[in-house]
Amino acid sequence: MTQIYNFSAGPAVLPKEVLQQAAAEMLDWHGSGMSVMEMSHRGAEFMSILETALADLRELLAVPDNYKILFMQGGALAENAIIPMNLVGRKPQPATIDFVHTGSWTAKSINEAKKYANVRIAAAAPDGRFHAVPKRAGWNLHRDAAYLHVCTNETIDGVEYHFNPDAGDVPIVADMSSHILSRVIDVAKYGVIFAGAQKNIGPAGLTIVIVREDLLGHALPCCPSAFDWKIVAEHGSMYNTPPTYAIYIAGLVFQWLKRQGGVAAMEQRNIAKASLLYDYLDASAFYRNEIAKDSRSRMNVPFFLRDESLNEAFLVGAKAHGLLQLKGHKSVGGMRASLYNAMPIEGVQALVDYLKEFEQKYG
Ligand code: PMP
Repeated sequence: MTQIYNFSAGPAVLPKEVLQQAAAEMLDWHGSGMSVMEMSHRGAEFMSILETALADLRELLAVPDNYKILFMQGGALAENAIIPMNLVGRKPQPATIDFVHTGSWTAKSINEAKKYANVRIAAAAPDGRFHAVPKRAGWNLHRDAAYLHVCTNETIDGVEYHFNPDAGDVPIVADMSSHILSRVIDVAKYGVIFAGAQKNIGPAGLTIVIVREDLLGHALPCCPSAFDWKIVAEHGSMYNTPPTYAIYIAGLVFQWLKRQGGVAAMEQRNIAKASLLYDYLDASAFYRNEIAKDSRSRMNVPFFLRDESLNEAFLVGAKAHGLLQLKGHKSVGGMRASLYNAMPIEGVQALVDYLKEFEQKYG
């Protein structure tokens, strides 16, 4: 059988070892006689799964003690509303939220935030095309903003921050959905970090929120209790039934990451994987990536064929080689290869070999 490599942007490839372990434990978790899916979320078995997952994530990201880790639901898009509902109440109304606009996911966050506050664009890509993170020196920040929102990896556009943003005393809220755990970050530089799980962590349905404690307790009266971070934190992410199976898989992924040497080791592998692909694209006149070199995403690599009439043939050939889900997002076009933690370097090498072969045939 052809070796399969899945380049989906999300839901995305998970470590094979994790899926095998989940399969082995599917009907009977650790002799409990139950599948994790069948367990009460308040029983000792699931509580041990939850607590281990929380502790492992805290260790992997070196989350300081004055931050809460919340396991929520609704995905990153629900957080686009949950965040302002929890944070704008810290300021006189109507509050202001600053954004650094880097692409498609920031655009969605901006539109949602407008329902709760005045939105200011502190910086945006100069030509209206999302090919670079605006230089920090040009950010026009508002000292009284309730917070500054950034998306540190734009999954669709393929743009990533390679620096920790700073905004003085204004808390920074970062959407890290598509690169969390792929690189070392300094959590203390952020007020809130949020991420949907379905790329580097596990199945869709789980949303990670890491929030500094002093930002809790300001929810607007309209905020649903299940989305009030303070209430969720006080209940240890158990105010309502959490997505138990997704948390279990996330926990297995965290253990896998620890066995791989943790986030620093993963980052080195991710640099090697991304370089392998970008170096080939840059050297070729047949393909191109349009993102500024200092802002290229290690996780999501959009690229184009010089002759776009070959796109269909490229995708059909890729599939025959076991290289799946390479079609670019419809808003960008072309191709996109997502190289999340669970993508081995052999997968990237197989893609580069195919790029070469296709180029030789049609170039
Ligand atoms: N932000 C980013 C950076 C994303 O990549 C995605 C999903 N691709 C989202 C937000 C939306 O996440 P969800 O569909 O889980 O709400």
